[in-house]
Amino acid sequence: MKKSAADIWEDLKGQVDFLTEAGAGFVLKPAKGRSAGDPSRSVPPAPRQTASRPAAAASSRVQARDIKPLPPAAPPLPSLAGLPAQTAAERRSLEEIDKQVLVCRLCPLHKLRTQAVPGEGSRSAELMFIGEAPGRDEDAQGRPFVGRAGQLLRKIIAAMKFREDEVYITNIVKCRPPDNRVPHREEEEACSPYLVRQIELVRPRVIVTLGKTPTDYFVPGREGMTARRGNFGDYRGIPVMPTFHPSYLVRNEGNRELKRMVWEDMQKVMALLGGK
Ligand code: SF4
Repeated sequence: MKKSAADIWEDLKGQVDFLTEAGAGFVLKPAKGRSAGDPSRSVPPAPRQTASRPAAAASSRVQARDIKPLPPAAPPLPSLAGLPAQTAAERRSLEEIDKQVLVCRLCPLHKLRTQAVPGEGSRSAELMFIGEAPGRDEDAQGRPFVGRAGQLLRKIIAAMKFREDEVYITNIVKCRPPDNRVPHREEEEACSPYLVRQIELVRPRVIVTLGKTPTDYFVPGREGMTARRGNFGDYRGIPVMPTFHPSYLVRNEGNRELKRMVWEDMQKVMALLGGK
């Protein structure tokens, strides 16, 4: 349908109004030789109150109402560096965490577990190893890192001249995911407060993250493990060394280069701890 001169004027006026409000910085000037009030012009004057203005205002009200405010950013957790020695009460709190984990039902993984695996080792360890989640053997025995990968980790610990009861070993998720799949984000979110509290109470001087899942949690990054391993990150003042998960080494048993890299990472940890 052909637009009338009045409609064309309305369209043009609407566009100019929008561009002016958007800061385009110009106004529609009347044609040369005519004033806005010139009765001889062929285009009728625009009404002062255009129909498009209330609609635009309503639209902006809808948008403002629909935008949900962002939740307030969580305050950063306090540094754990330089805290005083662990107290007896804090030691008891660690035992309490173990008890809570054993009966925990915070995420669906509790339905499939044989038993939860809180962690083991010294409750005031200087060195903490954090893996992903219990596997089949760990689920059966209730202890972390007891399968083939665990045996390798324990050899690495011995090579570092630590006894197993001098370090603390645990996982980011305390119950076995089905088929040893990677824990889901919700499972990690449900379970990680236990781990965070364990770290706050044990207060290790160095954390070693084994594989991508715990590394992503403590020192997030976009690169793969090959690029991230061997470089210290920081978790609340505690140096964090990412390295390959021992199960990756077991799956690539003939790859001596992987073992060399892990050992190189552990040497950096030993150097930071001042040697044994
Ligand atoms: S994985 Fe963690 S949060 Fe989930 S049931 Fe087990 S202990 Fe609880």
